[in-house]
Amino acid sequence: MGKLLVLSLCGLILAACGGGESPPVATPIPFGRDESPQLAIMAPEIAELLRNLPWARDGSEETEQLLREIAGAQLPRPNLGQERVPEIVQLIEILGEQHWYRDGLDGDEKFGLTGLFRTYNSLLSGRRNTATGEQEYAFEGEYNFPALYASAIEQKRFAVTKPGTTSLTFIALGEIGDEGKAEEALRHATTYINDIVRLAGTVKSTTILIIIEPNLEICGWAYSAIYATQIRPDCVTPTIVVHELTHLATPDVFETWFEEGTAYWVAQHLAPIDTPLRESAQLRRETTFDTGCCIARDDEYAATVRGAAAFWYDLELIIGAEAVGNAIKAVPGGVGREAIPAIIRFTPADKQAAVRSLITERCREYRQARMLPCTIPAR
Ligand SMILES: [Zn+2]
Repeated sequence: MGKLLVLSLCGLILAACGGGESPPVATPIPFGRDESPQLAIMAPEIAELLRNLPWARDGSEETEQLLREIAGAQLPRPNLGQERVPEIVQLIEILGEQHWYRDGLDGDEKFGLTGLFRTYNSLLSGRRNTATGEQEYAFEGEYNFPALYASAIEQKRFAVTKPGTTSLTFIALGEIGDEGKAEEALRHATTYINDIVRLAGTVKSTTILIIIEPNLEICGWAYSAIYATQIRPDCVTPTIVVHELTHLATPDVFETWFEEGTAYWVAQHLAPIDTPLRESAQLRRETTFDTGCCIARDDEYAATVRGAAAFWYDLELIIGAEAVGNAIKAVPGGVGREAIPAIIRFTPADKQAAVRSLITERCREYRQARMLPCTIPAR
């Protein structure tokens, strides 16, 4: 701060000498007058770490948002027996060691850090279940989040993307030993998110948390309510990452055929396991499921998922991937059977007959396997 002031005074004096104007009168800014009000509500030891940084004084909305999240994350929760200040001091000290932080923060870095502190806060604060009145915590007791976030900051394992009109931050967490996998998952996520959103829907959150979890029984798990996913280290492949992220982008339909079928279809479409791509949907239907990595599910479940994904493949052959994606995106949350009207709506007139006969055929084929949306609306 002192250094900046001296430089600008020199500049002004030189200008004054050259132009022959009267020398400027320096008006020192009283301590704290030009700073964010957020600093006033932070613990002094945290505010001290931020107060004199140029980025924290620019008064922009991005800065205020970031400072607000830091202020929220450091608030002690005495009723929960949580004292946050030392943890936040540590996170900000680690930030202070990073070259990308020391050279100032651009808009994306501020947005990313805002998401980082927001998710940190919500994981540790939990939320009240309105039905039971109980405070609930995602992944309760499973992780040492202060340590995981410290390592994510140290290795800059967060990334800001813009898959639609708004920005989205991925934050990848992994214990020591899984950090490389977390980085890999982050890379796959940022590579594929634009296409996932194009095909499957929008992510209605500004953050997605990816946690590498070695003790998962299955390859991955998506938590739509909190926009988080756990992925087993040996399953960190483009296919699995795309699958789990598709769950977070598609409407919550609560029908296995729709949710899993769509996730498999999008993953196979964007990041196929079997290369080269099988040419016909029939072949894909028979061969492309990598269920080997996951716990054995019952046959009915497998048939439902396989059938649903194959249904999207077959539909893709008739109307193209974009139209399939538009149909998926048009399905309202909660009602899987609405998929059929959406499909019909996105089918051009000259393809209607083929699509209707595909639906009829598949409905007969999968009726036993809970793939139920078999009422085809009149044209
Ligand atoms: Zn799934």
